[in-house]
Amino acid sequence: MYKHILFATDLTEDTEYLIEKTRFIREKTGATLALIHVVEPLPGYSYAYLGIEDIEGQLLSEARSSIAKLAEKLNVGANDQFVEVGPTKTKILKVADEIKADLIICGSHGRHGLSLLLGSTANAILHGAKCDVLTVRLPEEE
Ligand code: AMP
Repeated sequence: MYKHILFATDLTEDTEYLIEKTRFIREKTGATLALIHVVEPLPGYSYAYLGIEDIEGQLLSEARSSIAKLAEKLNVGANDQFVEVGPTKTKILKVADEIKADLIICGSHGRHGLSLLLGSTANAILHGAKCDVLTVRLPEEE
C-alpha cells in the first residue's frame, strides 16, 4: 500500500476538510506524510503597487509558519515540510518525485464555465503526476 504521501495544501480554510481524510489514509496505510505549499512569484510591478519591499519574503515566512502549525496537527517532521516558490503544479510534481511520493492528496472544487476550460490545480496535478492522486471533492459554498 502507500508508503509516501504528499499532501498539497493551499493553506485556505479548505485545508481543515482535507486534514481529516489525510489523517485517515495515513493511519490506514502507515505511510510517511509530507506537506507542501507553493508560493507563486508575484509580478514585479506588484511590489511598487503594494508598497511592501520584500512581499515574497513575507509570504514565504507566513507560509512557513502556517505549514509548521499544520505539521504539528498532523505530526509531520521538519524534513517533510516543503514551502516552495514557483509555478504550483511544477513544484508539487517536483517534490513528489524527489520524495518518491506514491500518493498525492489535493482538494478539488466543482468547476463551471471558464475555470472548467482553464482547468484547476487538481487537474494539472492529475495530468502530470507519475503516481496516484486523490482529489478530494471540497464542499461547495452555498
Ligand atoms: P484550486 O485549483 O486552486 O481550487 O486548488 C485545488 C487544490 O490544489 C487545493 O485544494 C490544494 O490541494 C492544491 N493547491 C492549490 N494551490 C496550491 C498551492 N499554492 N500550494 C499547494 N497546493 C495547492
